[in-house]
Amino acid sequence: MISPQRCAFIIGKFFRFVNYFALSGYCLQEIFCYNATGHLPLNNQLMSLLVIGSAAFDTIETPTAKRENILGGSAAFASYAASFFCPVNIVCVVGEDWKQEYTALFTQHGINTAGVEIVPGGKTFRWSGKYRENMNDRDTLDTELNVLGNFQPKLPEEYRRAQFVFLANGAPSTGLAAIDQLEGASLIVADTMDLWLNIARQDLDALLSKISGLILNDSEAKQLTGERNVITAGKKILTMGPKFAVIKKGEHGSVFISEYETYVIPAFPIENVVDPTGAGDSFAGGFMGYIASQGNLDGETIKKALVYGTLAGGLCVEGFSLDRFQEISRSEIDKRLEQFRKMAAF
Ligand code: AMP
Repeated sequence: MISPQRCAFIIGKFFRFVNYFALSGYCLQEIFCYNATGHLPLNNQLMSLLVIGSAAFDTIETPTAKRENILGGSAAFASYAASFFCPVNIVCVVGEDWKQEYTALFTQHGINTAGVEIVPGGKTFRWSGKYRENMNDRDTLDTELNVLGNFQPKLPEEYRRAQFVFLANGAPSTGLAAIDQLEGASLIVADTMDLWLNIARQDLDALLSKISGLILNDSEAKQLTGERNVITAGKKILTMGPKFAVIKKGEHGSVFISEYETYVIPAFPIENVVDPTGAGDSFAGGFMGYIASQGNLDGETIKKALVYGTLAGGLCVEGFSLDRFQEISRSEIDKRLEQFRKMAAF
């Protein structure tokens, strides 16, 4: 006779399995083994996250300050945020003007830099933006693609069997080229921006058909789908390929939408916004880093990943570049998580 507790345990396991399977589209058995405590990565080794995107020298102007040529880029922010949770492998391209101290900054924080390609004689991507008084709206002042313009990502051999992959903001063709080199990833999630909706829609549609999840902000979700309502837009994204969408709504938090679940998470209130650059990338890095660290996609993990993403985005904006991240540790993020829990629990 099976006890009611045992029966509930088996049913719970079954639904966790179905949920993961439905979202990833790949066979769970390839990646995980079971024990009584739930899903465990094979050999109990911490899963790593592969991040592909941009590394940049940013020039940022806010209503009160200006910084020139500071470390930025979608992969830089996403990787650093994710590395609070799991080992990270970064793939990006830089020029000869790249500073070795930035590579050291990555490696000291658990980011493998074997995939940082330095183009001899090339110049690193430069981006410059100016924030308006409300610190939310920004204007791109200048974009110098430089080596990013011809970026053909080359995944080092050891990265190709990555299970968890985040395609940080960049040309959709870069994401497609990276996917071609992967050997059976379980979860591929991409970020995007309005620029690609405007100039690379065909590539973006091709990319959408190959990924499990899409992270984007509310205006981009509306533009992508032609819908006015965020939830309707999220559901329409599910018809374009992804199994889930995470839609960020700035100071109104974020929403996760899949065929099976909808989760909403408020924003963590930040009093001292210094520079919003990289908030979206850091959100995605925290979200994906936590999922990779847990090795599953059940509802509790997704909700906590949304919270960690929110906290990472909030911490990022408290300083320029990666400055604030360099001052903190995982335990401080977890302290914020407790504060957040008290604020949001009802
Ligand atoms: P976020 O504030 O999260 O939108 O990210 C800002 C970062 O994205 C900056 O550090 C920029 O260097 C980087 N970025 C801006 N435009 C692009 C682009 N077209 N492709 C890749 N990265 C970009």
